[in-house]
Amino acid sequence: MIVGIDLGTTNSLIAVWEDGAARLIPNSLGEVLTPSCVSVDEDGSILVGRAARERLQTHPQHSAANFKRLMGSDKTLFLGKRAFRPEELSALVLRSLKEDAEAALGRPVEEAVITVPAYFSDAQRKATRAAGQLAGLKVERLLNEPTAAALAYGIHLREGESKFLVFDLGGGTFDVSVLDLFDGVMEVRASAGDNHLGGEDFVTVLVERFFETSKAPAALRHDAAFMQRLVAQAELAKRALSDSPRAEIIAGDGRQDYRMELDEAALEKACALLLARLRSPVERALRDASLPLAELDNIVLAGGATRMPIVRRMAARMFGRFPSCEINPDEVVALGAAVQAGLKMRDAALDEVVMTDVAPYSLGVSTTVRIGGDHFSHGHFDPIIERNTVVPVSRVKRYFPIRDDQQIIELVVYQGEARMASDNIKLGQLEVRLPSGVEDRGVDVRFTYDVNGLLQVEATVVSTKEVHSLVIEGNPGLLSEQEIAQRFVALSELKIHPRDRIENRTLLARAERLYQHLRGMPREQLGREITGFETALESQDQRVIVPAAKSFRDVVDYFDHQSFLLPDA
Ligand code: ADP
Ligand code: MG
Repeated sequence: MIVGIDLGTTNSLIAVWEDGAARLIPNSLGEVLTPSCVSVDEDGSILVGRAARERLQTHPQHSAANFKRLMGSDKTLFLGKRAFRPEELSALVLRSLKEDAEAALGRPVEEAVITVPAYFSDAQRKATRAAGQLAGLKVERLLNEPTAAALAYGIHLREGESKFLVFDLGGGTFDVSVLDLFDGVMEVRASAGDNHLGGEDFVTVLVERFFETSKAPAALRHDAAFMQRLVAQAELAKRALSDSPRAEIIAGDGRQDYRMELDEAALEKACALLLARLRSPVERALRDASLPLAELDNIVLAGGATRMPIVRRMAARMFGRFPSCEINPDEVVALGAAVQAGLKMRDAALDEVVMTDVAPYSLGVSTTVRIGGDHFSHGHFDPIIERNTVVPVSRVKRYFPIRDDQQIIELVVYQGEARMASDNIKLGQLEVRLPSGVEDRGVDVRFTYDVNGLLQVEATVVSTKEVHSLVIEGNPGLLSEQEIAQRFVALSELKIHPRDRIENRTLLARAERLYQHLRGMPREQLGREITGFETALESQDQRVIVPAAKSFRDVVDYFDHQSFLLPDA
């Protein structure tokens, strides 16, 4: 059994291919979206998902989110005293999803297709693979998120050629990809985006607008509890406006309530700058793919933030037509990963598709350029494989020594788009010794880049056919196989919060967050309820816990809805 996983910056999901269709698997809370958050509890046990997201507010020093952005780097995050690498935090999310799937399917889950952004570099892809291994999963394949979205829409089943664009606006990232399906081969022709544009930015705009219009004193910006409450209210209002024409944000400081009413037109106006920023990545992707807008057969929406009608309208205006949005945009990538898992399991109906990806950066060597006479300019970057070239790809270029007596050609391999090599990322280097006294002093440099992001450099001395080669996969920021094995053991020894108690733990985390928001009598009341529920949990008797949880949930729901309205006692 191979599962499909969308390991997102904000939310992660797991899906399976079953009876000819992809199906999402809910977590222990019955939700298909698991927030990509990890937290360490007071007793040192690990919490993943919603409980961890709640604790991000109450216990920021013990919680982490957004670590997908750090994948491929060797940055360390501290949760309490314990240090984690981004791969390890991702692994904890993956492991939690794996356990949810095992519980739902009643059998072990050991293999997975995991999605990654199309622009993910070699190092980021390897880190994602490592995260899978650390979670005890064999990563069957990494799949580009836009390709997954296309698969969910069944675009691979179409006859003839099909060109389309995937417009993915998630929590904090915006990705545009142009894909081409031809002869049963799917290609990512181009990808562009904005790494710092997503649903969260719309919330920030609402918070700013709240301070402008509600008369809430600016000093409240420094009241952390107030700000948390306001951000939560703004998030709810943003979502409410996806379904209804108006919404209200109410946040109080205990003495007074401040309000802001808004409708879709006001949201659109307030977010005009954000909406405008959606345009240039789309234009860049189409330009890189050398594809006029009119030739697109389809526009596919992905990412939770494309649920916003103002975003959909902006997209429709940009493209001059309505995008496909029949599948929930925050679920489409995971469903597509499961379709790919189905293909992998050789489901006869679908296995004709061969997937291809693109090189996310240009790959090349540093060269010296003659600028007239005996004058040279060194350190120019000369791309051999251009960015957005479909992989696997193999390209060759011939280079010559600049001096007749030169005995060595130093090939320094770089990745990037800058004109000067030193402004790009150095990947490795290869020394090629030149024979003297021969006519042809050229060296053929072949770059072969594969689906797994492995770069093979092969330098052939033209006259002697002597071959020097270099395989680039090592990255200083990446874990070696041996380190992965060691960390796998260490991670396996971590205490994970028991699955069957996650629901109650999440409820408790939510209550603790509310407790921080409240003041006076309501706070005291909730405090007593929390202690009461903790006592019930300690009894370890389901006959006590189940009814206690039910009534505690009602209390927490009540405070959650009322928290911003309750006055000080
Ligand atoms: P990621 O790909 O970053 O993991 P998602 O695709 O899950 O994230 O998108 C998360 C974003 O979608 C959040 O900013 C969230 O506020 C937003 N979102 C989810 N549902 C809605 C909705 N109904 N209306 C508006 N925004 C939404
Ligand atoms: Mg996503």
